[in-house]
Amino acid sequence: MTSGSPILKDLVLVGGGHSHVIVLRRLGMRPIPGVRITIIARDLHAPYSGMLPGLIAGLYAFDDVHIDLGPLARFAGARLFHAEAVGLDLDKRTVLCRKRPPVPYDVLSIDTGIAPRLDVDGAGAHAVPVKPIGGLVARWERLERRVRESPRRLRVAIVGAGAAGVELTLSMQHALSTRARAEAGGFHVPEFHLFGAAPTVLPTHNRGAQRRFRRVLAERGVHVHPGTRVTRVDAGRLETADGESFKVDEVVWATAAAPPPWPAASGLAVDGAGFIAVDATLQSTSHPGVFAAGDVAAVVDHPREKAGVFAVRQGKPLAANLRRALLGRKLRPFHPQRQFLSLISTGDRYAVASRGRWSAEGAWVWRWKDRIDRRFMRRFADLPEMDTEAAGARRAPAVPPGLASPDVVRELSVVAMRCGGCGSKVGATLLDRVVARLEPVRRDDVVVGLDAPDDAAVASLPPGKLLVQSVDAFRSMIDDPWLFGRITANHCLSDLYAMGADPCSALAIVTIPHGLESKMEILLEDLLSGAVAVLNEGGAALVGGHTSEGAEVQLGLSVSGSIDPDRILRKGGLRPGDRLVLTKPLGTGTLLAADMRGKAKARWVDGAIRAMLHSNRDAAGAVRAHGGRSCTDVTGFGLLGHLVEMTKASGVDARVKLDAVPILDGAEDTAAGGLLSSLQPQNVRLRRAVANLETAGADPRHPLLFDPQTAGGLLAGVPEAQAEACVGRLHALGYTHAAVIGAVAERDDRAPPITID
Ligand SMILES: Cc1cc2nc3c(=O)[nH]c(=O)nc-3n(C[C@H](O)[C@H](O)[C@H](O)COP(=O)(O)OP(=O)(O)OC[C@H]3O[C@@H](n4cnc5c(N)ncnc54)[C@H](O)[C@@H]3O)c2cc1C
Repeated sequence: MTSGSPILKDLVLVGGGHSHVIVLRRLGMRPIPGVRITIIARDLHAPYSGMLPGLIAGLYAFDDVHIDLGPLARFAGARLFHAEAVGLDLDKRTVLCRKRPPVPYDVLSIDTGIAPRLDVDGAGAHAVPVKPIGGLVARWERLERRVRESPRRLRVAIVGAGAAGVELTLSMQHALSTRARAEAGGFHVPEFHLFGAAPTVLPTHNRGAQRRFRRVLAERGVHVHPGTRVTRVDAGRLETADGESFKVDEVVWATAAAPPPWPAASGLAVDGAGFIAVDATLQSTSHPGVFAAGDVAAVVDHPREKAGVFAVRQGKPLAANLRRALLGRKLRPFHPQRQFLSLISTGDRYAVASRGRWSAEGAWVWRWKDRIDRRFMRRFADLPEMDTEAAGARRAPAVPPGLASPDVVRELSVVAMRCGGCGSKVGATLLDRVVARLEPVRRDDVVVGLDAPDDAAVASLPPGKLLVQSVDAFRSMIDDPWLFGRITANHCLSDLYAMGADPCSALAIVTIPHGLESKMEILLEDLLSGAVAVLNEGGAALVGGHTSEGAEVQLGLSVSGSIDPDRILRKGGLRPGDRLVLTKPLGTGTLLAADMRGKAKARWVDGAIRAMLHSNRDAAGAVRAHGGRSCTDVTGFGLLGHLVEMTKASGVDARVKLDAVPILDGAEDTAAGGLLSSLQPQNVRLRRAVANLETAGADPRHPLLFDPQTAGGLLAGVPEAQAEACVGRLHALGYTHAAVIGAVAERDDRAPPITID
């Protein structure tokens, strides 16, 4: 997170909906120096609604129809926080999130789509909601599994006969019937029933489109129940307003949308139905500086139906007005069109077009739709090449007029004249305020800690125990300071766990870029509160530290622990016959390197982050409980580097089974693409320790043996008889990738120590 110009304003986007992906792209094309963009997204891959039915029909793959917010956020120079917003503090101007600290904003935009309207008795418990569209794919996969596993023909009811309900019914029906036909043994294709409260399907479309769909639905054997309002859903049954009862096995809920409850609960003005009320500039009617677009918003002057096409259209004017709001300029109104073209597919590469009173149908309509949709998606997949230097430089130019008030300009000139004395220490009041808000664990053995700070911390050691110490420090490898704080703490504690020690205390060494005091304070708090959360889980009290200003965010922790003298797990304890157990998958180095260049899929990076956040504490316990005599944590030198250290110290050789080594999703792809950590070349020098380099080097997984890990897993030597039980225990503890990756052999001085099978 290097930046040439100080952060003056925070633009926060909540939700990666159709409008916000366009906003990100536009802000990436023309960044605003001094503005930091943060996107808070519950789903890292934003579905493009127009193509979702095609995915269900089996015509597209997941990545064809989802916009990957990772590379897009990188392109926009935005921080991507994988989190769910649950409220707003409109006075403090912060977004409240589930399971992470609040995110402050100067200008806020909300594009979170809608919640399902499960307002019928039993629908919440017994129906599968179509909305939010974010989880639709997973819900569909569950439904398909049930259909496949059923020994009899199921009956599926779709409630809601608008465009989404009709398109979805036909897509599901097409997917299941083609799959049942194609697969040996097949399965029973369900009977589909479509229920709609209006007298016809597609009530908001013209008569021609309605007629065409009535015909297609009849041809495809879908039972249509128009004018039938569902009033109750039970397990295996639904009831309608006129008292009829239908036996059904699955109910898919595709009725009108409901707003998420939190915008109104936070105090934002909403319309009668609870959607965020915005004027024609897309700004909240109650709160200047807060914007909303897409389904979650109601443009009070221009009410329109909820449709992705409107959310897409709002992207450009929203981006322009967010820019104007940040720069203190006058906002401009946006007039959405009244009519729009709908291209609604029938699931089988055929579609119906509807606009105003006009309609048409054919395979050509589907090809037309497919062309439009793919063109839209290419705008987000084919982003201009990024290199990290350029990304930093793009944020460096002079601050545009209007962004900063005279007070801020004065504060900035003071910042620019900082002397760098006292090791560029951060101001005491700022630090005091942050420290006062931290809540490190209290320990009886900490005599002088942060609650009564002094020149140094003082702690005692239980009688008979030894002191174990380690230190590590990082430049920020991800743009989320709170997560970075947690990962750093986890990495640092890992050294103690690998030795078999219990953590006691920690000292933090922090560097944050100079800037406005208010922004520095938030950054420091995010970093330290993240670190403290993990230290607390490990029972380590943060007892002091040092914070200074510098070019980029850095965090280091010196950690201390205690251990019984006879329980130390050294690198040198491997014995011939031991099995090598690795507790976490490899690949964080290449994935983070790829992420820096906007080349890693967000779900891969998310997997790497989850692995980096997984503590080694319980793994160390499992290794010890199964007779482990030797252990280390896999970090900067990569698996091979750390294994060589162990074999050297133990006077043994080792064989590694390459295809047993767990690898993070995506890491093979990024490594094969040459996207490797800058530490990789140094680690690769150790290839001389490999006996059969010629054959092993040809394997695409081979580079990952040298991949430097952040907060990597433990590598342990466990007696052969206990190895499988140890791995079983690790799986039960949540280390689902843990595996026996090789074995220890007698030392043979005539050959290098490592053989790769
Ligand atoms: C099957 C189906 C087919 C459809 N086909 C079409 C079509 O062809 N044409 C059309 O115009 N419309 C279509 N629609 C309607 C369309 O899906 C919506 O109108 C459109 O998705 C609205 O876009 P949006 O930007 O408002 O929100 P969304 O596309 O729903 O995006 C909202 C995003 O915000 C994120 N989010 C939600 N809550 C939070 C939170 N609290 N914190 C952080 N992030 C959050 C979600 O993860 C999601 O990615 C279809 C709908 C369905 C169900």
